[in-house]
Amino acid sequence: MSGLEGVAPSRILHWVNGQTAAATSGRSGPVMNPASGETVAELGFASAADVDRAVEAAASAGHEWRATALSRRSEILFRFRELVARNRGRIAELIVRENGKTMNDALGEVARGLENVEFACGIPHLLKGGYTEQASRGVDVYQIRQPLGVVAGITPFNFPGMVPLWMLANAIACGNAFVLKPSEKTPSASMYLAELLQEAGLPDGVLNVVHGDKAAVDRILEHPRIKAVSFVGSTPVARYIYETATRNGKRVQALGGAKNHMLVLPDADIEMAADAAVSAGYGAAGERCMAISVVLAVGSVADALIAAIRARMSRIKVGPGSDADSEMGPLITREHRDRVAAQLDRAAEQGATVAVDGRKDPATNRKGFFLAPSLIDHVKPGMQCYDQEIFGPVLSVVRVKDYAEAIGLINENPFGNGTAIFTQNGGAARQFQFDVEVGMVGINVPIPVPVAYYSFGGWKSSLFGDLHMYGPEGVQFYTRAKVVTSRWPDPAASKVDLGFPQVR
Ligand code: NAD
Repeated sequence: MSGLEGVAPSRILHWVNGQTAAATSGRSGPVMNPASGETVAELGFASAADVDRAVEAAASAGHEWRATALSRRSEILFRFRELVARNRGRIAELIVRENGKTMNDALGEVARGLENVEFACGIPHLLKGGYTEQASRGVDVYQIRQPLGVVAGITPFNFPGMVPLWMLANAIACGNAFVLKPSEKTPSASMYLAELLQEAGLPDGVLNVVHGDKAAVDRILEHPRIKAVSFVGSTPVARYIYETATRNGKRVQALGGAKNHMLVLPDADIEMAADAAVSAGYGAAGERCMAISVVLAVGSVADALIAAIRARMSRIKVGPGSDADSEMGPLITREHRDRVAAQLDRAAEQGATVAVDGRKDPATNRKGFFLAPSLIDHVKPGMQCYDQEIFGPVLSVVRVKDYAEAIGLINENPFGNGTAIFTQNGGAARQFQFDVEVGMVGINVPIPVPVAYYSFGGWKSSLFGDLHMYGPEGVQFYTRAKVVTSRWPDPAASKVDLGFPQVR
C-alpha cells in the first residue's frame, strides 16, 4: 500500500491561514512523476492577489506569534520535530514521486532537514543577547535580537523537503511569520510539512504556502510587508532575486548554482577517491548543488582513477526511486534530460573524449526522464561542459599537471559552492583549505554540506547576500539587533547637559 493516501491530492492548493485555498489566477501547471513521465497532480498558480492574502494572514498571525514565549515556540518546534521524524517515510514518498530521487536519498534529505528543526528547538539559547553592566556610571547596555515580521522563502525542485526546512525552522523559531513558495515541480512535501506544523500547534497564519511561478515570486519581491527573502535555485534567478528584492528594501540571501571540483592528489587512495567521485557525481542523478561535477586529476593519477570510476559506474542501478534496489533515478523533466544529454555531443565536438555515454545504456530508454551516468575525459576550460553547470549525471575529468594548476582552476571558476580534496597528506589538505576560494570544503569528504549548527553557503556566483543559510547565520538573518542603553538615576540628580554623551 502506498503511504500517500490522504496526503497527495490530485489538485494541489495553497495553504493560507491554516487551510487550503484555491488559486485565483486561472493558471495552473502539471506536477509530473519523472520516473514515469506521467502527470500526478495539477498545481494552481498564485496570482498577486493570492500572494497578498498569504502575506495578510502572515502579518496578522505574526503579532501574536512574536509575543509567544520562547519556551512555547520551542515546544511547538519539538513536537514538529517528532512529527517529521515519525512521518519521514511519507515525506520521502512525496519527494520520490515528484522529484524522482531514490527512497534512500529522500530519507537522507529528510534527516538533514530534521537537523535544522532540532537546531531551531534551541531557540531560547540562540536568541540570548549580550548585557554590559556599568558601561558608564549607573548605565547598562544590552543587545536583543527581534524578528523581522513577515519573511518569505523560494525553494528549488531538488530538495523539496530539506530546503524549506533550512528556512522555515529558524524563521519561525525567531518569531517571524513565513510565506513559502516551493518549486512548482515538487510542491507536495511543503504542503505536508505545513499540515504537520499545524498538528504540532503552530498558530494558523504563521506559515503559509503559495504555489506558482515567476508571477508569484515577483509579487513576493515587491510586497511591502515582506521584510526578507531567502532563495535557493539557479544562479541567474538568484541574481535576479537579489537585485530585485534589495532594490525593494528587503534583506536577501540568494543561493545559486554550482560547479564543484574534486581535487585528487597523486598520494590519494584511488579506490576511496573513485567511490567518492561516483557517489557525489551520480547520486540524485547529479541534481544536487553540492554534487561533484569536475574531477581534477593531478599528474599520474588520472588513468588509474578513471579506470576505477568506470568500473563503479557500470554497476550503478538506474531505475525508479520507488524501487528498493535503484541507486539513481531520473532527471526532473524531459527538457532537462535532453539538455544534459546534449552536453555530451557538444563535449565531443569541442575536443573532449566521451569515455562513457549514458545514452547508450538501456536504462536511458526507460519510460520517464532517465539518463544513465556519463563520463567525459580530457575536459578543458572553455568547453561548454566545463563552463556551465550541467546539473545531471555527467562527470568531467580535467587532467592537470600539479596542485598549482588545480587550485588556479578552482579559484578562477565563477562558482564557489563546494569543493573537495582527496589526499593522505595533512599538510597539502591544510594548504588547500587555506588557498581555496569556495564556501564549503571537504577534506576526503565529497559532499561537505555543513551540519545544522554551522551555516550553509557558497562564495562568488553561488551566493548573493551577506549571510549564509541556516545555523547561527540563519538566526542572524531572520532577526535584527536592538541595543538598549538604560539607567535608573535619582531624579533629584538630573540636569540639562547639551554635550555629546560620554562614558563617565
Ligand atoms: P530555479 O532557479 O529554476 O527555480 C528555483 C525557484 O525559483 C523555484 O521556486 C521557481 O519557481 C523560481 N523561479 C524560476 N524561474 C524564475 C524566474 N525567472 N523568476 C522568478 N522566480 C523563478 O532552480 P531549480 O531548477 O528549481 O533548481 C536547480 C538549481 O538550484 C541548480 O542551479 C542548483 O545548483 C541550485 N541549487 C542551489 C542550492 C544551493 O544551496 N546553493 C541548493 C539547491 C539547488
